[in-house]
Amino acid sequence: MKAKKYVAIALAIGMSISTFAGCSKDKNTTKPEDKGTVTQEETKTAEEEKLPGSLISKDPVELSLHLHIYNKFVYNEDWVPFKKAAELTNVTLKGTAPESATDSAQVFNVMMASGDLPDIITAERENFFKYGPEGAFLPLNDLIDQHAPNFKKFLEERDDVRRYLTAPDGNIYSINFVPDGAAAQGYFIRQDWLEKLGLEEPKTVDELYTVLKAFREKDPNGNGKKDEIPFIDRAKGQKTIALATLWGAHTTTDRNEWYVEDGKVKFGPIDKSYKLAMENLGKWYAEGLIDPEAFTRGSKARDILLGDNVGGFAHDWFGTTAGYNDAFKDKIEGFSFKPIAPPADANGKVWEYSSRPAVNPTGWGISKDNKDPVTTIKYLDFWWSEEGRRLMNFGVEGEHYDLVDGKPVFKDSILKGDKPVTQILQDQGIQMQIGFHQDFAYEEQWLNPIARDGMNMYIENNYIEKPFPTLSFTAEEQKVIDEKTPSIYTHVTETTQKWILGAEDVNKTWDSYIKALDNMGMKEILDIYQAAYDRYMSN
Ligand code: CA
Repeated sequence: MKAKKYVAIALAIGMSISTFAGCSKDKNTTKPEDKGTVTQEETKTAEEEKLPGSLISKDPVELSLHLHIYNKFVYNEDWVPFKKAAELTNVTLKGTAPESATDSAQVFNVMMASGDLPDIITAERENFFKYGPEGAFLPLNDLIDQHAPNFKKFLEERDDVRRYLTAPDGNIYSINFVPDGAAAQGYFIRQDWLEKLGLEEPKTVDELYTVLKAFREKDPNGNGKKDEIPFIDRAKGQKTIALATLWGAHTTTDRNEWYVEDGKVKFGPIDKSYKLAMENLGKWYAEGLIDPEAFTRGSKARDILLGDNVGGFAHDWFGTTAGYNDAFKDKIEGFSFKPIAPPADANGKVWEYSSRPAVNPTGWGISKDNKDPVTTIKYLDFWWSEEGRRLMNFGVEGEHYDLVDGKPVFKDSILKGDKPVTQILQDQGIQMQIGFHQDFAYEEQWLNPIARDGMNMYIENNYIEKPFPTLSFTAEEQKVIDEKTPSIYTHVTETTQKWILGAEDVNKTWDSYIKALDNMGMKEILDIYQAAYDRYMSN
């Protein structure tokens, strides 16, 4: 019944948009030239009354907050960082989102449709870009410039974040969660098999071929059977396709298909390097170097093929993949599955295609109905101070962590609890992925050492390719993208699979493949991406 009511109200949202526009005209709060409604007197007062520590207001201030995110987190007044922050800043947040609802987007729509907005609103970037220019959210540019020194400094150091947050009208409407620690996935190989066969770690794609061939032919598991499956894939062929990066290609796996070369936006699956990769992957597959069931086996591939002592090489998440060393240490003698640097591609370049997103779509902004934007932006900025950042990353000293050599180290109650570390923290509101900068040190201390060393190797050697930015498209552009890209992606995926499995010969069908993509509007999509990228770079 409740859900029905939400839908009904959400339908009224069209009306509320014009309401915002009306409001912004009446109140004069959101015209671009009016961004700095914060007057000079106010700035002066703030400077004169320098408050001690992290205190933001002499008198207690209460701000209302809409926080319903990721379809599971609803603001709870008992959350540790927020309670502690209230003590430190004198600003308390009062939640307005219903705890019973589970669909964050729907709850957001209902709240927006009501027209009466809480002081602070948590939402996704697309909503800030849509409702900000209509007047529902305040532009934050001048508020940040004048009252948020910590976040201002961060934006000066992180152009990519500033560009990401800048709406098409040139304003920033939200402060978002920024993850830390770029390494996510990497290559793993059976070190004990290499040793057994007297082979070195493969440093190039050609050496990798030699190693995988030996894994296939020379019985490294020692059971007298040719049962080894050198490359394993638990992503229904996505990981197999991504091996194409070893010939310098960009693939659709892990959003790597779009990239930039000399300012020009490119789509990997139509490059010559993609064709070369397909020739080679077809050969690798035919020779049994890739799991014959790579496209169908699915998520259990690691459990099954590593557990059966037949899998030898993979590209996967550092944390979980490193964990198999513990899981199978008693079951498989000498089992050692370790990260290696990406083998150099056919052009001699060493690079990792996967990366974590640089900025998260979720953030918080200040609504049109907020009566005290200056105090509010100061509060949002508190989370970017050293103290605020530590509080959101690690919780409270003495309770969740101890300082060891000046660094927070989690207590055993966190590290050795009965739930995953992240869940234990988030149950208490710590590591809530809204407007703060994550500190990789939070994750590093509970990572498997094999995973940690692998991640550090990828980060310190700069293997990870800078991810293609999350572009913002105009409504018109988006319409064309929605209309044309599904068939383009389907054609790329289906044809790629045929080439790898040997159902089609890439040398015979490449030209018709390119022609088909052209007919589907490839050129138009490329032009749209280029225009959006140029706008992004001009911010
Ligand atoms: Ca064997």
